[in-house]
Parts: sequence; structure tokens; C-alpha cells
Amino acid sequence: MSIYTGPVFEMACRQFETIADHLSIPADERRHLIMPKRSVTVSCPVAMDNGEVAVFQGYRVQHHLTLGPTKGGIRFSADLDIGEVAALAIWMSWKCALVGLPYGGAKGGVTVDPYKLSKRELEGVARRYMQEMIPFVGPRTDVMAPDMGTNEQIMAWFMDTYSMYQGNTVPEIVTGKPVALGGTEGRREATGRGVAFVAALAMEHLSIDPNNATAIVQGFGNVGSNTALELAARGVKIIGVSDHTAAYYDPAGFDPHVLTRHVAQHGVLKDFSTQSLIDPNDLLTQRCDILAPAAVERVITEKNAGRLQCRILAEGANGPTTPDADAILDQRRDEILVLPDILCNAGGVVVSYFEWVQDLQQYFWDEKEITDKMTSILGRAFHQILARTIRDKISMRTAATAIGVKRVRLAKQQRGLFP
Ligand code: GLU
Repeated sequence: MSIYTGPVFEMACRQFETIADHLSIPADERRHLIMPKRSVTVSCPVAMDNGEVAVFQGYRVQHHLTLGPTKGGIRFSADLDIGEVAALAIWMSWKCALVGLPYGGAKGGVTVDPYKLSKRELEGVARRYMQEMIPFVGPRTDVMAPDMGTNEQIMAWFMDTYSMYQGNTVPEIVTGKPVALGGTEGRREATGRGVAFVAALAMEHLSIDPNNATAIVQGFGNVGSNTALELAARGVKIIGVSDHTAAYYDPAGFDPHVLTRHVAQHGVLKDFSTQSLIDPNDLLTQRCDILAPAAVERVITEKNAGRLQCRILAEGANGPTTPDADAILDQRRDEILVLPDILCNAGGVVVSYFEWVQDLQQYFWDEKEITDKMTSILGRAFHQILARTIRDKISMRTAATAIGVKRVRLAKQQRGLFP
């Protein structure tokens, strides 16, 4: 029992136990590796448009500080709790270590439905959250970024709030900012671009021709929409999409540019079409080459894992597959190749790292350089994981997480225990 106890934290712990068994890590070392170093809970009082003061709970969990500052997104979501934030922070650690970034993992957020706030109220929540976090963050301590329910504008308010308290502009305090404020070219597209790139490597490995391939994308926020656009640019037909308001399926395919324009106008996928509506649960089990869950955690469960009809499961979201579902997918390893979240969606944090480096140097690169550097990192990680998967007859998730955990463990051993 700990303050983090809950289904998502249990999931991160169960995944870790599998890896710790695989790497034969002793029990005391396991606790040292998994338990978050710091977690902060704050209350954010905000003056609402109706004249009342509402108080929102905010969190930040910094998982380990062994390799450098912590890094990870801020989520604004109605049912967020500290256990979920801690699990997401742990996954960020394995992700950063897997792709070789000099960071520990972190995650944070506010328990609030951002879609129910006016723009003024949203700014109030964002600014107050950052103001409460000032003693615990910094460009060399903890660097925030966007996640579910947050965006470039919110990162701009974070950066402004932090900078006003410092008395000078500090762009390197957050990543995912607007380009005009020291954000990087290509950050907005990075996660989806990375998902599509890793899926393309998997198609090559499985001898699937992208021009004859189909994809279903669950979630149409930043990650889902860019995944659909980037897959379509590689020739893949997008036959299914969904968000929290609607799900559509059409074997004839959708043009993701038209879907993106609809979302830009209406905010959601609802009312896009009446003909191709499908039950969101049924969408996941339709036949396709690539299924990309790009929304929330725990959507591939023991209930649907046996019925998936994809060749590649490309995890754009963090934690979309439960350990029970993983056990089923492990049995189906010859039918379905799982591209684990910490590899598949790592393009986002890789380009965030580039943004931080550019801000520290005040020297900016062009988009091609950024995309080339990102794909070379993801490509190297993909091939390393694939080689290990084949050599040790383990899943891509076990191979990827083992590489990440091993790097964090080695760094802790080499630094030693203080004092
Ligand atoms: N929130 C994103 C993730 O889960 C990005 C984090 C970052 O860019 O620091 O990987």
C-alpha cells in the first residue's frame, strides 16, 4: 500500500516486476528503482467566471533524478489522480533511458476537465499550477511538456509565469512551446511522426507494403491526428478513427486532412459523418494492418486482446495495454507485433530534448535536421529491441523496458548510494 495505490500504478509495478524477474534484480534494488523520488501535491485556487473561487488539485511526480533533470508532460484531465501520474512518470523514465536521453521521468497534471473552462479560466489554472510548482522545477531540475488536455498555449503560459518570477525569460523551463517563444520546429508533429516511422519499420520487417496497408487510429488529439496524417503520407489507408465523442469505420478509407479540418472547426470528431458510425469498442477489433491506440491508458484489455485483428499494434498512447492483455498478446506473438509505447511514442520526448538543447544553446536547427535526428534515434532503438526480441524470444515490450531499466540501474550503481 502506498499513496500511489490504484489500477494504473499497479499496472506500472506489474510490468516492472516482469522486467525485474527477467533481469534477476534483487528485491531491495527493485524498490529503489520503482518508487518515485519526489511527488508534490498542490491546491490551485482560481477565480472562475461566475465570481466563485474553485480549487483544483495539481500533481507532479519526479521518478528518479539519477541521469539528469526529470522530464515529462502535464495532463489536464477530469479523473486524474496521483497514482496515474506516478505510473506515467515511471514509464517516462524507461522511455528516456531506452532512447538514451539524459533525463529521469516525470509527469504531472491537474484534476480538471479543460474543455469545461473558458480560455480565461484555463489560463488561471495553468498559471497558478506553474506558480505553485516553482520551488520544485527548473531547467536543470524538472522540465515540463504537453500531454493529454494541454497544448502549446498552456506551455507558453507556464514559461511566462516561471520567467516573470525569475525576472528574465527562461524558455528552457518547458518544451512544446510555440516556435516563436523558443519552441522547436517539428515538436507538434513529433509524436505522431515517430509512431508512423516506427510502424513503417515494422511493416518493412513484416514485408507489408504501406500502399496496400490499412490503419485504425483511436484518439484524434495531437498524437492520433498526426499519426493518421503521417501514415497516410506513407500510403497507408486510414479505415477507422475515433475520439471521446465519436467513432467511424469505412473500408473505403478517410482523408485525415478532412478529419483534421473538421476537428479544427468543431473541436471534436462528433458530427463528421452519420453513415460510417461504429461502436467505439468494435472499432478496435476490426481487421487492419496497424491498430494505433493514441488516447488513454488501458483500452486493450483481457476482454478484447484475443479478438484484435491487426498485424501491428502501434502504441501511440502511454499504457494502452494492460498486463493481462499483454499476456494474451504474448501468446499471439506470431500474429501481432506489439510496438510498445516507450518506443512507439518516444518521438515526442526526443524532440522535446532537442528543444531543450536548442533553448540552452540559443541556437536553433531546421525541421529536417530535427526529423532526421529523431528518426535515427528511433530507428536505432527499434533495431536494438527487435534483435533482442528475436535473440531472447521475448516480446518487444519486455525487450524495450529491459533496456531502459538496465540503463537506469547501471547509472544508480555507478553513482552509488549517498551519503
Ligand atoms: N507527454 C509526452 C510523453 O508522454 C511528452 C513528454 C515530453 O515531451 O517531455 O512522452
